[in-house]
Amino acid sequence: MRIIVQKFGGTSVASPEVRELVLRKIEIARDQGFNPVVVVSAMGRQGAPYATDTLIDIARSAYKNIADRELDQIMCCGEMISAVIMAGTLQAAGMDAVMLTGGNAGIITDDNFTDARISKCDPTRIISYLKQGKVPVVCGFQGMTGEGEFTTLGRGGSDTSAAVLGAALKADMIEIYTDVEGIMTADPRIVENAKILDCISYGEVCQLAHQGAKVIHPRAVEIAMQKNIPLVVKSTFSEAPGTLITNIAKEDNDNVNVVDRVATGVTYLANIVQVKVHLDDTMGNDASFKVFKTMADNGISVDLINIHPGEIMFTINADQAEKASIKLKRLSCKFEILEHCAKVSVVGGGMREVPGVMANFIEALSRNKIVILQTVDSHTSISVLVPQSDVGAAVKSLHEKFGLSN
Ligand code: ADP
Ligand code: ASP
Ligand code: MG
Repeated sequence: MRIIVQKFGGTSVASPEVRELVLRKIEIARDQGFNPVVVVSAMGRQGAPYATDTLIDIARSAYKNIADRELDQIMCCGEMISAVIMAGTLQAAGMDAVMLTGGNAGIITDDNFTDARISKCDPTRIISYLKQGKVPVVCGFQGMTGEGEFTTLGRGGSDTSAAVLGAALKADMIEIYTDVEGIMTADPRIVENAKILDCISYGEVCQLAHQGAKVIHPRAVEIAMQKNIPLVVKSTFSEAPGTLITNIAKEDNDNVNVVDRVATGVTYLANIVQVKVHLDDTMGNDASFKVFKTMADNGISVDLINIHPGEIMFTINADQAEKASIKLKRLSCKFEILEHCAKVSVVGGGMREVPGVMANFIEALSRNKIVILQTVDSHTSISVLVPQSDVGAAVKSLHEKFGLSN
């Protein structure tokens, strides 16, 4: 059986008109001999009546700190409404569609509500529906614990649902339909002349997603990569071929763009704060250990770490700053917190061992008088911390400098 998983994001299921376009994409897959498994997100974006953000606002209007378990129950409703409406749209067109919750589709998770991890995916029920010629329409973003509690998989998690179903079903392909024509060299909302990438490796797109490119969830890419299932990101609103994400090997790839490019894309993460801790003798020999252990014990994840004699620097998410500050005060160390920062990254599988990449990076930023607060690099990425007010200028200048605008 040739199986294709087709995931449609919030804007792709937002109105009757666009749901007709979704219907067409499913019909095309069937005409090509595939058995489609459809995964849907909640309808629309922030402000739309059944969008995830709206449901969160409703729950928090009752109690700002509502428990994660309760939040998950209301968040799951967005995808349920969407899947019912989508199944109805397919049924009206004569397809034998069947709506399934994440749990019905066999997605079992732990009980880490609002960010649950998938422990198992049992595709038996979906396979049985496919054998009967039915089209399963699965609620994205949700799973179920072993005890039958609804959970969600973290924001943007419908991509993860599609990937885990693709892996469990040994699908030929996973298609992620959205409102842009593929993975681009930067977020088109920031860089007007960002370009669509024809193809990209799992590794590069994973880095882009982890460093802030919201176009696809990094967990989805990791799952598809483990099973080597091709992922395609494409638009519901056009016929453009989209971006193919695969295990591109330099030797067997005849697309020179992929091989030759030093940089593949520029991305950013906002809402970051920088923490600088001054270490002195009164804190003992294991002062840096104490600081990082305190962060770890309090569930605060740290990034951009620099350790020098007498001083350590790292970054955390802004929403954890208050907690970090309370805990550091208890350690009786001197520290400073710099708010309103952002991490801007250039990602590219081709920058490995290429001289001058850092020089170009710094030149682009200093020409625009952008202050660099911290840097970190790996074989395939360079990141800097800059004031949040400079994010747009930093992304644009790096996009230009690394030849991505041409
Ligand atoms: P969906 O609801 O379909 O999952 P998302 O909003 O999660 O859609 O993702 C699509 C959005 O991601 C685009 O509208 C675009 O603004 C944004 N985006 C950020 N970075 C990139 C990038 N590098 N390439 C393409 N889109 C990007
Ligand atoms: N509806 C969920 C969210 O907004 C999941 C998704 O769209 O992928 O995060
Ligand atoms: Mg998304």
